[in-house]
Amino acid sequence: MSECCATSRSHKLDCPYCQQPCSAVGVETLCYHLKQPWQWQANEHVSYYFCDHKDCAVIYFSDKGETWQQAELRTHVGVKQPEPDALVCYCFGVHYAEANVAARDYVIAQTKSGSCACTTHNPSGRCCLKDFPR
Ligand SMILES: [Zn+2]
Repeated sequence: MSECCATSRSHKLDCPYCQQPCSAVGVETLCYHLKQPWQWQANEHVSYYFCDHKDCAVIYFSDKGETWQQAELRTHVGVKQPEPDALVCYCFGVHYAEANVAARDYVIAQTKSGSCACTTHNPSGRCCLKDFPR
């Protein structure tokens, strides 16, 4: 599986709800998906994480015990509820119902040419290709 967005954030922390290891996300990712991010004060000494496990209500959490759920986000997080009308690719607006080989090939081509914006647009802060149904 190719990953388009080079990231040094390989650090992981267990989700406080589902206890599964989750990858770190940048503050810029939270700001893009939180409702009213201007009401939120990011702390440079705190690390933030994204939980992509389907049966867990927590979407973002910090190593200081803060959590954010779907109601606190302005983006519907498709990997939590992969319904046909949920987005799998946030850069190019591919819904799960449309996530066929042609759409996937298009996304791969765009990511190779650097035309994606997964770091902010995807709630996980990472490439959507890993989320495409197979
Ligand atoms: Zn979780």
